[in-house]
Amino acid sequence: MNNETTLSYRTFLSLVAVALTLLVTTNPVAAQPHVLFSDGETDYAIFLSSEASESEVWAAKELQHWLKEISGATFALNYYQPTEALPKQAPRIYVGFSPALQSKIGEEEPKWTDESFRYFNRGPELYIYGGKERGSMYGVFSFLENEFGCRWYAPGADCIPTRCISQFETLDRHDSPGLKVRNDFFYTAFDPVWMARNKLNGRMSSNPAEQPGGCESYWGVHTFYRFISPSEFYDKHPEYFSLIDGKRVADPDNADWGKRAQLCLSNPNVLKIMTRRVKDFIREHPEHAIYSVSQNDWGNPCQCTKCQALVKKYGGKESGILIWFVNQVAEAVEKEFPDKQIGTLAYQYTRSAPQNIQPRHNVVVRLCPIEACVAHPLESCEKNQSFMDDLRDWAAISPQLYIWDYVVNFQRYIMPYPNFAVLQPNIKTFINNKAIGVMEQGSYQERGAEFQELKAYLIAKLMWNPGLDVDQVINDFMLGYYGRSGQYIRDYFDRLQQSVTPETHFGIGLDAWDPLFTDELVNESIHLFAKAKKVADNEEILRRVNLAELPILYLKCKREPVKSREDGTFQQFIRTLEKEGIELIAEYRDNLEDFKKQVLSAKE
Ligand SMILES: [Zn+2]
Ligand SMILES: [Zn+2]
Repeated sequence: MNNETTLSYRTFLSLVAVALTLLVTTNPVAAQPHVLFSDGETDYAIFLSSEASESEVWAAKELQHWLKEISGATFALNYYQPTEALPKQAPRIYVGFSPALQSKIGEEEPKWTDESFRYFNRGPELYIYGGKERGSMYGVFSFLENEFGCRWYAPGADCIPTRCISQFETLDRHDSPGLKVRNDFFYTAFDPVWMARNKLNGRMSSNPAEQPGGCESYWGVHTFYRFISPSEFYDKHPEYFSLIDGKRVADPDNADWGKRAQLCLSNPNVLKIMTRRVKDFIREHPEHAIYSVSQNDWGNPCQCTKCQALVKKYGGKESGILIWFVNQVAEAVEKEFPDKQIGTLAYQYTRSAPQNIQPRHNVVVRLCPIEACVAHPLESCEKNQSFMDDLRDWAAISPQLYIWDYVVNFQRYIMPYPNFAVLQPNIKTFINNKAIGVMEQGSYQERGAEFQELKAYLIAKLMWNPGLDVDQVINDFMLGYYGRSGQYIRDYFDRLQQSVTPETHFGIGLDAWDPLFTDELVNESIHLFAKAKKVADNEEILRRVNLAELPILYLKCKREPVKSREDGTFQQFIRTLEKEGIELIAEYRDNLEDFKKQVLSAKE
């Protein structure tokens, strides 16, 4: 933890509308409050059952660590036997549930996987518990966040306010997740400890054992050729692959994506091999929750008569034959692995829902709004009506959905991208339409993308509580993460978001000449960053401000390359990139070397 950061955070706490509930009630006739700690001393100790789960033990140690940071006091960590008679009125913080607690407080034991939690007191005793898998752990972090203002904004960017005294009379808070599986797909959000602290439980193709409390791993995407590869089968069995214009095609390396293809799903051998290999794979990798059987990342579904007859049977939709195929794999898998699910995609040519068929109960369709306008919420932009129709159609026939959503500019990670206003309404839309999980795909390869830390943090908070006050979270982040500079960065942020009008539509690619950007916006923003840098509390915060400025510098370089070269904007941009070791400014296109060449060779 950075002490200076904490100091500036505290200085500005009064400006921040965080829910910093002091553990004190003001009723003058109430009984004496219980003193949790005072002047670096405490009478309290943390107590765990000897049968506590791994994540409860970890969370209790976290509680001990952060309470020490807050108070300076050492809270001993003790174990009790799960059936022993516990003392009355002792200064103890119990983490996790146990039979001993049950006989003491008379509550029901939560289910192992229940992620909801409660923390409350009975007299001087404090209780924090939920399900043993992750619920108690989440309770500990909410206790620290809500009652002391602790924040874990990004890996290595903690804000832990210190306190001389903390006391309480009554405390009772219950909370539960708004979304079952929360997958925040940003580079900065892949830190398993940061994920646990921010209640993220969804990952892509990851080993749950790496994360405190584990996670729900959705293994794989675009897996057709992963299981049935052209190099292994095409020569002997070209009929396993798509028939395109009278020819069996399997050319996964062709630079022309129009020449790449899929599997011939109606071929019984394709189904047989796929089923066997998926089962083998689950046997070898049993740690995932969902296993993907899904189309390659291009088009060209099979045109053969048998495939097209199935497409026709299911409403003329390519998703129909896909669900027909995946359902059969899922049915076979269920016999051996009843607790595993088979995932697939509703993406591009399979985005519309089929008719006359439904995904089985153990099939999880991952629907992708890759074509959507992200300037406006899904439900309120006319350009998103066809996606909303597809979403509602899928929700009507599916036991559950899992959304693969896109929340950054993939062509230019580093450019200003004012889509913050859609994050909350879209997550709500997904939840209202049977989403059990949402994956928010962001800039996942490295640091340095536009407001990466803020976006990853806000998304984590929204996936847990889709009804939260977004403005409050952003204010809290701006002042906690950027200190005094945060007021100017918030101003820049607001101007940028406000540049979106009902007429400005954009998707996952946005270029520098989009009408929503103006020279005035660029110049005013650079001016705001100058002010932000002037008041930076310390070197670390200055670094963060420089990183936050990169997008607007990039925008200026793209719009006015000659001027940017002459007035030092370009050099400043490159200097910060080099200092931070950032090499990637887009998912695929617009790489850094091309960008440099463009600016350096630009003429008036
Ligand atoms: Zn076919
Ligand atoms: Zn729109």
